[in-house]
Amino acid sequence: MCGLAAFLFGAHLAMTARLIDGLALARELRGALGARAEALAARGGRPGLAVILVGEDPASAVYVRNKVKACAEHGLHSVLEKYPATLAEAELLARVAALNADPAIHGVLVQMPLPRHIDPAKVIAAIDSAKDVDGYSLRSAGELMSGLPGLRPCTPLGCMKLIERTGVALRGRHAVVIGRSNTVGKPMALLLLQADATVTVCHSRTGDLARHTRGADVVVAAVGRRNTLGADMVKPGAVVIDVGMNRDDAGKLCGDVDFAAVRAALGPQGWITPVPGGVGPMTITMLLANTVDAAERRLRAGAAA
Ligand code: NAP
Repeated sequence: MCGLAAFLFGAHLAMTARLIDGLALARELRGALGARAEALAARGGRPGLAVILVGEDPASAVYVRNKVKACAEHGLHSVLEKYPATLAEAELLARVAALNADPAIHGVLVQMPLPRHIDPAKVIAAIDSAKDVDGYSLRSAGELMSGLPGLRPCTPLGCMKLIERTGVALRGRHAVVIGRSNTVGKPMALLLLQADATVTVCHSRTGDLARHTRGADVVVAAVGRRNTLGADMVKPGAVVIDVGMNRDDAGKLCGDVDFAAVRAALGPQGWITPVPGGVGPMTITMLLANTVDAAERRLRAGAAA
């Protein structure tokens, strides 16, 4: 890039929203989690995560490999159990029961999706709620709903940390969540509500999405459809968190947000997460955090007993 082009590019960037760097935040938080894991290990309770993978779904194989690798890199013990797609539901439930009873394991995660003959709800219900590090069980959902302490779903929890990183206080602000899935949209809305934001949840049947997002101080897009949030749908100075994971025409990973256009529309007072490098790295980080939390809770409960 020649001098003038570099200057103009720099000047353009200075007029656009600031990036919330999920990679940097994840690195920082993982460092602190590693230290907590070592402290627990020194007291005889190194945090342990068990991951069960059933079947040969290539994306799931990558996800579980990354989870196990992250554990190894940050001082957590981990176990990966792989089974063929033909595994019977009863056998899977028996493995979950064994891991529930294993004192070296503080978190149990069964990678979704499962083969069609296995009922995911039954499997999630079988995980000891004290080890439900995905935060998907009905008990965890109830704890979140009631504002009780408990393990929160990793992706929404990661989004909260990203918003925290901006320094923007949520109290009294208007937050719009696009998407109402049980794993992202709904828990996200509840976490924002708990942080005293005024929350609107939008979904595929929402009449005029832009009417809601244009008034929002914070928008969390969790849809799974690229360009759902465009430049004319945000207000300058807002915080935009992009959870979506999609592919563009060239096959490149992208989010739900029309990134460059929205970044420009938010202006220099705004904040935005990139894809990749935003929410993604925070999800596994929160899985580690939940596992360390679960191990600390067990140790405290043991000491109190
Ligand atoms: P999901 O279960 O498919 O839910 C998508 C939600 O988006 C639904 O509530 C749907 O509404 C809503 N929606 C669909 N089209 C819409 C539209 N045109 N306008 C407004 N809302 C619309 O997906 P999910 O599991 O929540 O995941 C959402 C995205 O986040 C996906 O791209 C997924 O890959 C990504 N994700 C990323 C991470 C990460 O770590 N980065 C983690 C989890 C998920 P209805 O309820 O009316 O159908």
